[in-house]
Amino acid sequence: VKTPRVEPGAWAPGADGVPASTLYGDRYHPAGDPEAQARQVFLAGNGLPGRWAGQRHFTVLETGFGLGRNFLATWAAWAADPQRPARLGFVSIERHPLAADALARAWQTAPADASADAQGQARRAELLAAWPVATPDLHRLVLAEGRIELLLAFGDVRDWLPRLQVQADALFLDGFAPDRNPAMWDRGVMRGLARLGAPDVTLATWCTARAVRETLTWAGFEIQRVPGLFPKRQMTVGRRHPAAREAATRWTEPGSGQDAEPGSAPSTSPATSRATSPQPTGHAGPRHACIVGGGLAGCAAAIALVRAGWTVEMLEAAPTLAAGASGNPAGIFHGSVHPDDGPHARWSRAATLAAAREYARLIAQGQVPGAVDGLLRLEHEAPLPTMHERLQRLGLPAAHVRALAGPEAAAWSGGPPGLSAGWALSQAGWVVPAAVCRAWHAEAGGAWTFRGSTRVARLAFEAGAWQALDAAGHPLAAAPVMIVAAAARTVDLLAAHSDAATWPAGTVRGQVGWIHPAELLSPGPVRPIAGHGYAVTLPDGRLLFGATAQPGDPDPAARNADDRVNLARLAALGFVDGPTADREAEHWAATGRLQRRVGERWSVVDRLPLVGPVAAPRADGRFLPAPTAPSARSPGRAGGSAGDAPTGAIPKARLQRTLPRTPGLFVIGGFGSRGLTAAPLAGALLAARLDGRPWPVERPVADRLDPGRFALARQLASAGVRTPDDA
Ligand SMILES: Cc1cc2nc3c(=O)[nH]c(=O)nc-3n(C[C@H](O)[C@H](O)[C@H](O)COP(=O)(O)OP(=O)(O)OC[C@H]3O[C@@H](n4cnc5c(N)ncnc54)[C@H](O)[C@@H]3O)c2cc1C
Repeated sequence: VKTPRVEPGAWAPGADGVPASTLYGDRYHPAGDPEAQARQVFLAGNGLPGRWAGQRHFTVLETGFGLGRNFLATWAAWAADPQRPARLGFVSIERHPLAADALARAWQTAPADASADAQGQARRAELLAAWPVATPDLHRLVLAEGRIELLLAFGDVRDWLPRLQVQADALFLDGFAPDRNPAMWDRGVMRGLARLGAPDVTLATWCTARAVRETLTWAGFEIQRVPGLFPKRQMTVGRRHPAAREAATRWTEPGSGQDAEPGSAPSTSPATSRATSPQPTGHAGPRHACIVGGGLAGCAAAIALVRAGWTVEMLEAAPTLAAGASGNPAGIFHGSVHPDDGPHARWSRAATLAAAREYARLIAQGQVPGAVDGLLRLEHEAPLPTMHERLQRLGLPAAHVRALAGPEAAAWSGGPPGLSAGWALSQAGWVVPAAVCRAWHAEAGGAWTFRGSTRVARLAFEAGAWQALDAAGHPLAAAPVMIVAAAARTVDLLAAHSDAATWPAGTVRGQVGWIHPAELLSPGPVRPIAGHGYAVTLPDGRLLFGATAQPGDPDPAARNADDRVNLARLAALGFVDGPTADREAEHWAATGRLQRRVGERWSVVDRLPLVGPVAAPRADGRFLPAPTAPSARSPGRAGGSAGDAPTGAIPKARLQRTLPRTPGLFVIGGFGSRGLTAAPLAGALLAARLDGRPWPVERPVADRLDPGRFALARQLASAGVRTPDDA
């Protein structure tokens, strides 16, 4: 198992009544008003709120979330400031997260909290309502009507720093005292923090330990002691040393129109440029994108960008949103439990947790039929003791997943008796994908223009912008950023501008059916069941079930043979009588008691989506500079622990970041049969990459979703180079 388990925190009141960690034997904060302390040490120490005035977005990176006092104080200061940045990102690493009820109880211990104003209480309630399960993931909490993004990394700071992609404007160094928790303050951590800082990053901490100050200086910060907070006389503030500021660059996607990389030149030929922008417009980029394709992928990208302040124009061949694979009457979303917890399992868990939060919100608003009430995933291979052992080893909390024996599984899901053992996945469920797309579009208002019945035949880069052209070569739309979300048609549109034609991706035809409850042996389940097929009870009592999978089959027409395949699976679950269903399938379909729909999935061979900028060939057709001698130490850049970059070879992720890209051209898709699971987090990742905001996906996993991965693999294979894979 690559992922260390998350051990939840616990607290007990100390002698002065202040909550103290039972694990570290240290107080979470001094006596008094903890949010006032956070304001004085962390906000004032970082020049806040002044430093964020008028910024589009501002990012804080914190070590040690603890009771969330610093976050709540920052949120309050942001809310009260008329000059506040439009968006606040707050990334915090916590090894021992408290449960929501323990947090709430801890907040009640400070006298000042009891008198907190209604807005302060509302902020706390919002944080508690969004509080995640304690899985070892980067949890994305969207607060303050989408204007605050709290990324909570649960686990050890030394494991997390190399896995984050953040450009922090301010560092909050909290956590228990160095003598109680030395690992939080060592060289590797400080160097990792320096790596994740923007060029003009500042820091603040209550800690004045000489060793900590020396370590910070060593890591490239200019450190100062300033008057502190009673009972401490001093505290420490700092900023990146002016000499080191030059070397630090603000990172951005080529062509995103955001902060152009230093030294990048304007380009008129995007296909051959690297790390340059067609419109290097600096911080005030146009922030307008054109999106081709109005399914889950395109809509997820659109809403994520609109929420970040962009405008989008969507071109869709069909008259309406979600007319392709995303048009099924309903679909399920869920994670899975893999013995090795590798990138696939980590992606699917993180994506499911994000999807569950997003869909729960849309369902609660009454806009989307569905339920985030859990899903039963049947286990066909591992026996129950092995399932228990796997959970034990992975340390996944019961609030996220439990292993259930057959009878328990049937009772929990409301399925027929006789079900096999399964995983009870709590943050999972079903929704109507087209309703999700429509709800997002409605939320976006005028910022998202939808143009249906508009088929894009070709893309071209002209006059400093990407153009979408129709079959006659007439421009349909132009934008500095072009996002292709056209499922399998994506390849046709990107082939001229990237290596898309060689991507190991293809189509998989699928058919679902939904059947009248009168034909069922027992009512549909109260929670969806997924195994070899799946079954979901629709609001009107009909049962949706499926789906077939035929790679490379382009037939768009529904087939009776496929109904029989799906009904046989439904019979195996116990919802219909097998022989009757086989005999009656055609009749049911002819009389409308069985309806069906065919769709085409777009799947990548490695079963991971495509999210990010496309790779561009160089003039010589290569994708990488010729392999060089193995790199020497590369301070804190990638791989290994925060302190020790691997030696002997260049990590693959680093090479991937040096890959030439076609500026301004992006892809989202390749969701296979997991579009509902993937879409919300994939959209958020794409928008974060375009905006230069913290990536909501841990970098080793995001690198595995990078569309440049195939170009890199091909180039490395042809050069005979082996690199450590830091995923
Ligand atoms: C039978 C079946 C059952 C499924 N069940 C589930 C499930 O239960 N849960 C789940 O998560 N997933 C499920 N999936 C998968 C899910 O539907 C897909 O992963 C998801 O819909 C893909 O979304 P997308 O936006 O990438 O593609 P699509 O929804 O296909 O959208 C692509 C859009 O691009 C448009 N387009 C293409 N070319 C052009 C062009 N040149 N110009 C303009 N527009 C263009 C198309 O018209 C289309 O609307 C199922 C799929 C099938 C087929």
